[in-house]
Amino acid sequence: MSIAENLSIIKNTLAKEVTLVAVSKTKPSSAIIEAYEAGQRVFGENKALELRDKHEELPKDIIWHFIGRLQTNKVKYIAPFVHLIHSVDSEKLLKEINKRAKSNNRVIDVLIQVFIAKEETKAGFSSEKALALLTAETYNNYPNVNIVGFMGMATNSNDENIVGQEFESLKTLFDEAKNLKSDFTILSMGMSNDYPLAISKGANMVRIGSSIFGARNYPTT
Ligand SMILES: *Cc1c(COP(=O)(O)O)cnc(C)c1O
Repeated sequence: MSIAENLSIIKNTLAKEVTLVAVSKTKPSSAIIEAYEAGQRVFGENKALELRDKHEELPKDIIWHFIGRLQTNKVKYIAPFVHLIHSVDSEKLLKEINKRAKSNNRVIDVLIQVFIAKEETKAGFSSEKALALLTAETYNNYPNVNIVGFMGMATNSNDENIVGQEFESLKTLFDEAKNLKSDFTILSMGMSNDYPLAISKGANMVRIGSSIFGARNYPTT
Protein backbone atom coordinates (compact mmCIF):
# COMPACT_ATOMS: atom_id res chain seq x y z
CA MET A 1 0.00 0.00 0.00
CA SER A 2 1.07 3.57 -0.62
CA ILE A 3 2.13 6.04 2.04
CA ALA A 4 -1.02 8.07 1.39
CA GLU A 5 -3.21 5.01 1.86
CA ASN A 6 -1.45 4.01 5.07
CA LEU A 7 -1.84 7.54 6.42
CA SER A 8 -5.50 7.72 5.61
CA ILE A 9 -6.20 4.37 7.30
CA ILE A 10 -4.39 5.45 10.47
CA LYS A 11 -5.94 8.91 10.53
CA ASN A 12 -9.41 7.44 10.23
CA THR A 13 -8.83 5.55 13.47
CA LEU A 14 -7.55 8.58 15.39
CA ALA A 15 -9.82 10.91 17.31
CA LYS A 16 -9.45 14.61 16.47
CA GLU A 17 -7.64 15.36 19.73
CA VAL A 18 -4.83 12.92 18.93
CA THR A 19 -1.86 14.42 17.07
CA LEU A 20 -0.14 12.11 14.63
CA VAL A 21 3.61 12.50 14.38
CA ALA A 22 4.73 10.76 11.19
CA VAL A 23 8.13 9.30 12.05
CA SER A 24 10.19 9.70 8.88
CA LYS A 25 13.64 8.83 10.26
CA THR A 26 15.92 7.12 7.71
CA LYS A 27 13.31 7.68 4.97
CA PRO A 28 14.13 9.82 1.93
CA SER A 29 12.63 13.25 1.36
CA SER A 30 10.53 11.80 -1.46
CA ALA A 31 8.63 9.69 1.10
CA ILE A 32 8.03 12.76 3.25
CA ILE A 33 6.74 14.68 0.24
CA GLU A 34 4.30 11.87 -0.47
CA ALA A 35 2.91 12.13 3.05
CA TYR A 36 2.97 15.93 2.85
CA GLU A 37 0.93 15.87 -0.33
CA ALA A 38 -1.57 13.64 1.46
CA GLY A 39 -1.96 16.43 4.03
CA GLN A 40 0.44 15.36 6.78
CA ARG A 41 2.36 18.27 8.35
CA VAL A 42 3.89 16.93 11.59
CA PHE A 43 6.99 14.78 11.13
CA GLY A 44 9.41 13.24 13.64
CA GLU A 45 13.12 12.60 13.21
CA ASN A 46 15.70 11.17 15.60
CA LYS A 47 19.03 12.37 14.20
CA ALA A 48 19.88 16.06 14.48
CA LEU A 49 21.88 16.37 11.26
CA GLU A 50 19.38 14.39 9.22
CA LEU A 51 16.64 16.62 10.59
CA ARG A 52 18.60 19.78 9.79
CA ASP A 53 19.16 18.65 6.20
CA LYS A 54 15.53 17.62 5.67
CA HIS A 55 14.34 20.91 7.13
CA GLU A 56 16.50 22.80 4.65
CA GLU A 57 15.29 20.80 1.71
CA LEU A 58 11.58 20.37 2.40
CA PRO A 59 8.54 22.71 2.56
CA LYS A 60 8.82 25.33 5.28
CA ASP A 61 5.38 24.70 6.75
CA ILE A 62 6.38 21.24 7.96
CA ILE A 63 6.23 21.01 11.75
CA TRP A 64 9.34 19.15 12.83
CA HIS A 65 9.55 17.16 16.04
CA PHE A 66 12.71 15.62 17.44
CA ILE A 67 11.95 12.25 19.01
CA GLY A 68 15.15 10.33 19.76
CA ARG A 69 18.05 10.59 22.11
CA LEU A 70 19.58 14.02 21.64
CA GLN A 71 23.23 14.68 22.36
CA THR A 72 23.89 18.11 23.83
CA ASN A 73 26.44 18.96 21.13
CA LYS A 74 23.79 18.46 18.44
CA VAL A 75 21.09 20.74 19.87
CA LYS A 76 22.47 23.72 17.95
CA TYR A 77 21.59 22.15 14.60
CA ILE A 78 17.87 21.96 15.31
CA ALA A 79 17.35 24.87 17.74
CA PRO A 80 16.55 27.44 15.00
CA PHE A 81 13.39 25.66 13.84
CA VAL A 82 12.41 22.57 15.86
CA HIS A 83 8.82 22.72 17.06
CA LEU A 84 8.87 20.14 19.84
CA ILE A 85 11.61 18.00 21.40
CA HIS A 86 10.06 14.81 22.84
CA SER A 87 13.11 13.41 24.50
CA VAL A 88 14.52 15.54 27.30
CA ASP A 89 16.15 12.92 29.50
CA SER A 90 18.58 14.99 31.59
CA GLU A 91 18.85 18.42 33.13
CA LYS A 92 22.06 18.94 31.19
CA LEU A 93 20.06 18.63 27.97
CA LEU A 94 17.40 21.00 29.28
CA LYS A 95 20.12 23.53 30.00
CA GLU A 96 21.62 23.24 26.54
CA ILE A 97 18.23 23.54 24.82
CA ASN A 98 17.60 26.68 26.87
CA LYS A 99 20.94 28.15 25.83
CA ARG A 100 20.43 27.44 22.13
CA ALA A 101 16.81 28.59 22.20
CA LYS A 102 17.94 31.85 23.75
CA SER A 103 20.61 32.48 21.13
CA ASN A 104 17.91 31.96 18.49
CA ASN A 105 15.48 34.27 20.30
CA ARG A 106 13.05 31.42 20.75
CA VAL A 107 11.23 29.50 23.42
CA ILE A 108 11.36 25.81 22.53
CA ASP A 109 8.59 23.46 23.64
CA VAL A 110 9.82 20.18 25.10
CA LEU A 111 8.49 16.99 26.64
CA ILE A 112 10.16 15.28 29.54
CA GLN A 113 10.91 11.67 28.68
CA VAL A 114 9.89 9.37 31.50
CA PHE A 115 11.30 5.90 31.93
CA ILE A 116 8.33 3.53 32.10
CA ALA A 117 9.65 0.37 30.43
CA LYS A 118 11.26 -2.70 31.87
CA GLU A 119 14.18 -2.33 29.47
CA GLU A 120 17.36 -0.71 30.71
CA THR A 121 18.17 0.50 27.20
CA LYS A 122 15.36 3.03 27.23
CA ALA A 123 16.14 6.53 28.46
CA GLY A 124 14.28 8.97 30.66
CA PHE A 125 13.72 10.41 34.11
CA SER A 126 12.14 8.34 36.83
CA SER A 127 8.55 9.38 37.61
CA GLU A 128 9.68 11.04 40.82
CA LYS A 129 12.41 13.06 39.17
CA ALA A 130 10.18 14.03 36.26
CA LEU A 131 7.59 15.45 38.63
CA ALA A 132 10.25 17.10 40.79
CA LEU A 133 11.48 18.97 37.73
CA LEU A 134 8.19 20.85 37.37
CA THR A 135 8.97 23.65 39.78
CA ALA A 136 9.25 27.41 39.62
CA GLU A 137 12.99 26.99 40.03
CA THR A 138 13.25 25.02 36.79
CA TYR A 139 11.12 27.54 34.90
CA ASN A 140 13.25 30.40 36.23
CA ASN A 141 16.49 28.66 35.38
CA TYR A 142 15.39 27.79 31.84
CA PRO A 143 13.14 30.61 30.63
CA ASN A 144 13.64 29.73 26.96
CA VAL A 145 12.28 26.23 27.41
CA ASN A 146 8.61 25.44 27.88
CA ILE A 147 7.86 22.02 29.33
CA VAL A 148 4.50 21.05 27.85
CA GLY A 149 4.17 17.35 28.59
CA PHE A 150 5.61 13.87 28.95
CA MET A 151 6.85 11.26 26.50
CA GLY A 152 7.23 7.59 27.26
CA MET A 153 8.15 4.39 25.46
CA ALA A 154 6.70 1.14 26.68
CA THR A 155 8.46 -2.19 26.83
CA ASN A 156 8.71 -3.81 23.42
CA SER A 157 6.39 -6.68 24.25
CA ASN A 158 3.20 -8.29 22.97
CA ASP A 159 1.93 -8.54 26.51
CA GLU A 160 -0.84 -5.95 26.60
CA ASN A 161 -0.98 -6.14 30.37
CA ILE A 162 2.61 -5.01 30.78
CA VAL A 163 2.47 -2.37 28.08
CA GLY A 164 -0.95 -1.14 29.20
CA GLN A 165 0.23 -0.77 32.78
CA GLU A 166 3.24 1.23 31.67
CA PHE A 167 1.09 3.62 29.65
CA GLU A 168 -1.34 3.90 32.54
CA SER A 169 1.42 4.82 34.96
CA LEU A 170 2.51 7.67 32.71
CA LYS A 171 -1.07 8.89 32.32
CA THR A 172 -1.39 9.02 36.10
CA LEU A 173 1.81 11.03 36.33
CA PHE A 174 0.61 13.29 33.52
CA ASP A 175 -2.60 14.05 35.41
CA GLU A 176 -0.59 14.97 38.50
CA ALA A 177 1.66 17.24 36.47
CA LYS A 178 -1.30 18.95 34.83
CA ASN A 179 -2.44 20.02 38.26
CA LEU A 180 0.92 21.71 38.78
CA LYS A 181 1.20 23.43 35.42
CA SER A 182 -1.77 24.63 33.41
CA ASP A 183 -0.11 24.48 29.99
CA PHE A 184 1.00 20.90 30.51
CA THR A 185 -1.06 19.38 27.71
CA ILE A 186 0.83 16.76 25.72
CA LEU A 187 1.10 13.06 26.49
CA SER A 188 3.22 11.46 23.76
CA MET A 189 3.06 7.67 23.85
CA GLY A 190 2.40 4.96 21.32
CA MET A 191 4.23 3.77 18.20
CA SER A 192 3.21 1.56 15.26
CA ASN A 193 2.77 -1.60 17.30
CA ASP A 194 1.13 -0.15 20.41
CA TYR A 195 -0.59 3.16 19.58
CA PRO A 196 -4.21 1.96 19.90
CA LEU A 197 -3.43 0.75 23.41
CA ALA A 198 -1.59 4.01 24.21
CA ILE A 199 -4.58 6.06 23.09
CA SER A 200 -6.95 3.92 25.12
CA LYS A 201 -4.76 4.77 28.13
CA GLY A 202 -4.85 8.51 27.46
CA ALA A 203 -2.17 9.42 24.89
CA ASN A 204 -2.97 12.52 22.84
CA MET A 205 0.11 12.33 20.62
CA VAL A 206 1.35 9.20 18.84
CA ARG A 207 4.62 8.66 16.96
CA ILE A 208 4.11 6.32 14.03
CA GLY A 209 6.80 5.37 11.54
CA SER A 210 6.81 1.92 9.97
CA SER A 211 3.01 1.63 9.68
CA ILE A 212 3.09 4.72 7.46
CA PHE A 213 6.38 4.48 5.60
CA GLY A 214 7.05 0.74 5.71
CA ALA A 215 9.81 -1.07 7.58
CA ARG A 216 13.11 0.72 7.94
CA ASN A 217 16.14 -0.83 6.31
CA TYR A 218 18.26 -0.55 9.39
CA PRO A 219 17.35 -0.35 13.03
CA THR A 220 17.60 2.98 14.81
CA THR A 221 16.76 3.85 18.32
C1 LIG B 1 11.39 5.14 15.60
C2 LIG B 1 10.60 5.74 16.69
C3 LIG B 1 9.19 5.72 16.67
C4 LIG B 1 8.38 5.08 15.56
O1 LIG B 1 8.55 3.71 15.56
P1 LIG B 1 7.62 2.76 14.63
O2 LIG B 1 7.66 1.47 15.32
O3 LIG B 1 8.30 2.72 13.30
O4 LIG B 1 6.28 3.36 14.55
C5 LIG B 1 8.52 6.34 17.71
N1 LIG B 1 9.17 6.93 18.73
C6 LIG B 1 10.52 6.97 18.79
C7 LIG B 1 11.16 7.63 19.95
C8 LIG B 1 11.27 6.38 17.79
O5 LIG B 1 12.61 6.41 17.87
